Amino acid sequence: MEGALTARDRVGIQDFVLLDAHTSETAFLDNLKKRFSENLIYTYIGTLLVSVNPYKELDIYSKKQMDIYMGVNFFELPPHIFALADNAYHTMLAEANNHFILISGESGAGKTEASKKILQYYAVSCPSTTLLDNVRDRMLLSNPVLEAFGNSKTLKNDNSSRFGKYMDIQFDIQGDAVGGHILGYLLEKSRVVHQNHGERNFHIFYQLVKGGEEDLLHQLGLESNCQHYSYLVQGECANVASINDKNDWKTVRNALSVIDFDERDIQDLLGVIASVLHLGNVQFEPDSKGYATLNNSAELLWVSTLLMCAFFFINIQVLSPFTVDHAIYARDALAKAIYGRTFTWLVNKINDSMENKDSSRKTVIGLLDIYGFEVFYVNSFEQFCINYCNEKLQQLFIQLTLKSEQEEYEAENIGWEPVQFFNNKIICDLVEEKHRGIISVLDEECLRPGEATDLTFLERLEEKLDSHPHFVTHKLADKKTRKTLERGNFRLLHYAGEVTYCVVGFLSKNNDLLYRNIKDVSLQVSTHLVALPNCKTATCQLWQFDDVLVRHQVKYLGLMEHLRVRRAGFAYRCRYDVFLQRYKPLCPATWPYWRGVAAEGVEVLVQHLGYLPDEYKMGRTKIFIRHPRTLFATEDAFEVC
Ligand code: ADP
Ligand code: MG
Repeated sequence: MEGALTARDRVGIQDFVLLDAHTSETAFLDNLKKRFSENLIYTYIGTLLVSVNPYKELDIYSKKQMDIYMGVNFFELPPHIFALADNAYHTMLAEANNHFILISGESGAGKTEASKKILQYYAVSCPSTTLLDNVRDRMLLSNPVLEAFGNSKTLKNDNSSRFGKYMDIQFDIQGDAVGGHILGYLLEKSRVVHQNHGERNFHIFYQLVKGGEEDLLHQLGLESNCQHYSYLVQGECANVASINDKNDWKTVRNALSVIDFDERDIQDLLGVIASVLHLGNVQFEPDSKGYATLNNSAELLWVSTLLMCAFFFINIQVLSPFTVDHAIYARDALAKAIYGRTFTWLVNKINDSMENKDSSRKTVIGLLDIYGFEVFYVNSFEQFCINYCNEKLQQLFIQLTLKSEQEEYEAENIGWEPVQFFNNKIICDLVEEKHRGIISVLDEECLRPGEATDLTFLERLEEKLDSHPHFVTHKLADKKTRKTLERGNFRLLHYAGEVTYCVVGFLSKNNDLLYRNIKDVSLQVSTHLVALPNCKTATCQLWQFDDVLVRHQVKYLGLMEHLRVRRAGFAYRCRYDVFLQRYKPLCPATWPYWRGVAAEGVEVLVQHLGYLPDEYKMGRTKIFIRHPRTLFATEDAFEVC
């Protein structure tokens, strides 16, 4: 009957596990779309949270909302990022162990926003004492500062994180947030000296030039016009509609004071930022022999004044026997190094300010927000590192969910029909395998200075990897992907799609040892959030569900496989002795003691509680419970007794 839509028809289902048994990808997308059209951007797959970027402010993150989610069982309320945060928090307290929240998705999917919401939840909702308010303010205010120095406008996202961030939030036994620590990974330093069309340098440069007070700019020798600085104009988009650099400058300036930067620190910091801008304007001309000479030393004087090191000036002079190209290269290398070190210093200062010096026992919730999979028109070493990092995260996700979950069912003799999934380990190996992988080959080439070039690196790759199913060079392009590939490029068939990399610059960038930062990202993860972007470009602000884009990500994140494992699987498991110990008061036969084998005691107990045969399975060492609601009912009964 027309008009008589049920709530389920209208708003979809909040946990995919409850959708009809053989959910197709189309039904999966349909459910996401229905919910999205009702402003419901979150949906569960069991304990995994799927989020679709709304690209508009929703009134769902208020303090009132936080209060609603505080301490409530995970599945009792509609899916929300706060439920995920709260669940990690309470489990951490109850089990006294560390938890990690892994956020994955493409660039622009909403990962960083999600991590900020989680942080806000802990900062605002956890128990509070005046003493600790300081720590919270610092944790929250470290964000705008890090974003100013580490984020920029890209083609995908006006506020794209150009570094990876792992943050520990430390809690004491009472559950107070008492400290924090940040690890920064892989800052995209090349952005300091080069930006593609439609992209910007790091926000801080524009904030300072546009928002800096007259006196300050005067002291730093800066003009209040971005067009004056060659490091700021390459992308031809110094002004961005969605960004208010002047206001952001005020926020950052204020935040710096709160997180313990004294006036001297701030002066030094801004001096370094200004020196980079001056450095970018240092120009060279060829002399009669073709060597580089400075065409104007005023900018360089500013650099040395601001960095307060006279010898610096002399060092640059020594560079002059180089050609103009070499001199420019050296200038840019210096700018990148200065900025990179400043960023490290900044993270260290923030860590000092959030450090908890009390040595009592703490547990942590870790938040990993690393930049998402990237494909641009031209992809270079930076995209290679970022995409490799995402391969590793996907591998971790597979290990923790699809693989270990299924292995446990098998080990416990739970009847189980294996779910097939694409394991991207083959691509991780392609990149990282010793002696054979792309990084090894690159490292070896870097050890042959003067002989090796980006092209010899590519030739070595072709020799070693031409038979690899996920590696394509121009020689093999037609055979493997039926698409041609120009010389100087190689293509990787990533789990998320194909990416063509241009080898130019691989050797020099690798020599910078950037990538070493990311080699050891290995974590235990307990909770997972997948964020789905929903627009092809950030300048697209419409409230629209982009079917093609969302479908692509549902596929590559393996959400359908994940759903199949979750649906057939069990939400909760517990060792027999632990389960019996906790719930034995609920059954006269097990209270106060059960004298037999623990597994038999559990069987008696759950029979007494009326568990239906399909609701649980008895494994070798553990009981497996299918739905959380069964366990919640048991928990409720336990609290009453
Ligand atoms: P990522 O870190 O995945 O690259 P961001 O978290 O920076 O992406 O999100 C990109 C943009 O999308 C944000 O600047 C914001 O405009 C929008 N956005 C993301 N998540 C939300 C949300 N929950 N509500 C409203 N807008 C959002
Ligand atoms: Mg981000």
